[in-house]
Amino acid sequence: MQTTFSMIKPDATAKNVTGAINAMIENAGIRIIAQKRIQMTPTQAGQFYAEHKGKPFYDGLVEMMSSGPIVVQVLQGEDVIKRYRTLMGATNPANAEEGTIRKAFGGELPYNAVHGSDSPESAAREISFFFAQTEIVG
Ligand code: UDP
Ligand code: MG
Repeated sequence: MQTTFSMIKPDATAKNVTGAINAMIENAGIRIIAQKRIQMTPTQAGQFYAEHKGKPFYDGLVEMMSSGPIVVQVLQGEDVIKRYRTLMGATNPANAEEGTIRKAFGGELPYNAVHGSDSPESAAREISFFFAQTEIVG
């Protein structure tokens, strides 16, 4: 059993689709074992996305990610890192396949509704960025 980190981004909380996204996650057989709604400061968002520092979309991404509430989650399931990336769909919602979260709820970049960790290392880092072990109840 594997865990991954997920974020419902400000564009999706603004559309009031937190529950709809959670239903897609649960319908895919993935369990939500931790969840909270918060708002990041620009400093926090910059640290969270440090890997993208210097890229042309970095400043806009940090501004967008700190512009409103987000829902941070820990997801659990078999091979869930890869399976959740598949369920999310392509980074650019214009390229996302039917049935994916980004196809259903994404807009124009950087607005693509959700984040999901891309490796076991980033999952560990991102989960501990937001959650204490006592908040994760599998
Ligand atoms: N992003 C963007 N323009 C780009 C690439 C990425 O605005 O050309 C934003 C988008 O919100 C994306 C985030 O930056 O989700 C992080 O980019 P990454 O390449 O890690 O994509 P992801 O892992 O989220 O699919
Ligand atoms: Mg990424």
